Amino acid sequence: MTQTLTPNHELAARLRESRLKDGLKHFIGGEWVDSQGGATFQTHTPTDNSPLTTVASGDATDIDRAARAAYDAFQTWREVGGAERRNILHKIADLIEARAQDIAVLESLDTGQAIRFMKSAAVRGAENFRFYADRAPAAGDGQSLPAPGFLNYTLRQPIGPVGVITPWNTPFMLSTWKIAPALAAGCTVVHKPAEWSPVTATLLAEIMDEAGLPKGVHNLVHGYGESAGKALTEHPLIQAIAFVGETVTGSHIMRQGADTLKRVHFELGGKNPVVVFDDADLDKALDAVVFMIYSLNGERCTSSSRVLIQEGIYDEFTARIAERARNIRVGDPLDPATEVGPLVHPRHFEKVMSYFNKAREEGATVAAGGERVGGEGNYVSPTLFTRARNDMRIAQEEIFGPVLTAIPFRDEAEALHLANDVKYGLAGYLWTNDLTRAHRFAHGLEAGMIWVNSENVRHLPTPFGGMKNSGIGRDGGDYSFEFYMETKNIAISLGTHQTARLGVGQPPKVPQEGAGE
Ligand code: NAD
Repeated sequence: MTQTLTPNHELAARLRESRLKDGLKHFIGGEWVDSQGGATFQTHTPTDNSPLTTVASGDATDIDRAARAAYDAFQTWREVGGAERRNILHKIADLIEARAQDIAVLESLDTGQAIRFMKSAAVRGAENFRFYADRAPAAGDGQSLPAPGFLNYTLRQPIGPVGVITPWNTPFMLSTWKIAPALAAGCTVVHKPAEWSPVTATLLAEIMDEAGLPKGVHNLVHGYGESAGKALTEHPLIQAIAFVGETVTGSHIMRQGADTLKRVHFELGGKNPVVVFDDADLDKALDAVVFMIYSLNGERCTSSSRVLIQEGIYDEFTARIAERARNIRVGDPLDPATEVGPLVHPRHFEKVMSYFNKAREEGATVAAGGERVGGEGNYVSPTLFTRARNDMRIAQEEIFGPVLTAIPFRDEAEALHLANDVKYGLAGYLWTNDLTRAHRFAHGLEAGMIWVNSENVRHLPTPFGGMKNSGIGRDGGDYSFEFYMETKNIAISLGTHQTARLGVGQPPKVPQEGAGE
């Protein structure tokens, strides 16, 4: 793979020297520390799989230290006023914006994501903090629910120290999406980032510390899922786990958290359909279909990895997708011209590559791509499978790469059946100019988020999350506070109701014994 040297490469060289040479530590109780047992692991850059840095590898002992630090800090952070939390969160956003280029370059180096998307992902991280900063003062607000003889009112209080476990795809942005509302709510955090992409979590911890977040409010423990991650989900001081990752890991976490009755919020996998009817604006649909599977290397939970196309336009539309796919620039993630970079890890690369053979074995046609690019690194060509059926593995399983499966359908009923005939239900995309059909179809589609005549355009107040095997709970707007906070009801008697009198030897005048619950 040829490499064009750009200012990003110079910055990358400087950041490797200044930030990565000495390895990454945990951040516990406001201190940068090694693992208690001294264990480390090596992380690699997906461009050529050469070592990137050494990372402290946490276990149950390190998690315990972090959970205790979060618990202690919670006793004061919960009392900090909303206005002060707002100011600190805005300061964090300022610092993220000021260092967005560093964050973007480190993210590209660590994950293989193209730099053209990583700058905006870093800025989105800042927006997440701003959005929840402004909501912090009202996070505890409740409702007034008057009843005869009573004034009921509700309020919300932070649930306590929470665990945040994040995956390797766009890790910086996803972490902010979880951590910002938790802090705005008044919770303290122990963050366990993915072992394949730990770099920007370290930068985020540093930024939050610099912004004046009190010690112990945010803690970072690196490590493997089976050790550090598992210990976090089992720790009795941790009240809830906000998890983003694979569906099967969500099941593990639910089991692991059962003994301590963890509240869980899961954002899991997807096999999201984009349905293209023959009356749609096909030029716009084409742009969106191509963007939603090949951007971010296809390593995106909301990617539309199944395209369902109405029969009459199937051949022409798939030919247009294939042409675009062949023109996509695969290459060095730090090159601004690159559209698809290397996949995050050799193991993930092998997984994605394995579907090229599966597709052929199952009888689908590889209309574009379907092969490795270059001799080293985890590069695959943007791929399109045509003449696929919905019961094939390429249509049912989350491949999580730049790989699209195209399936024809006859009519609306068949399209809806195919769209829903998977275990997942995260997002769905619909292209039609028939208004009535758009509403009808959207109501029938089993997905937590649906876009009509659009790609994924996120609006932060709206709910984000999935149905079926794609998740439990919603993020965004006030929905995040529902997770990170307890709702309490306070009932105040106005002194006019009658309490049932026991032990006075009289039968009740009015039937009132069963009133309580
Ligand atoms: P993963 O489930 O393998 O790992 C995610 C995190 O969980 C990592 O930090 C890992 O160390 C940790 N983990 C693993 N085993 C654990 C255990 N037993 N206990 C506690 N923690 C454990 O997921 P991944 O491969 O890193 O990420 C890709 C997946 O994430 C895809 O399935 C993708 O769809 C999903 N994802 C979903 C959303 C969404 O919003 N629905 C967003 C991004 C990614």
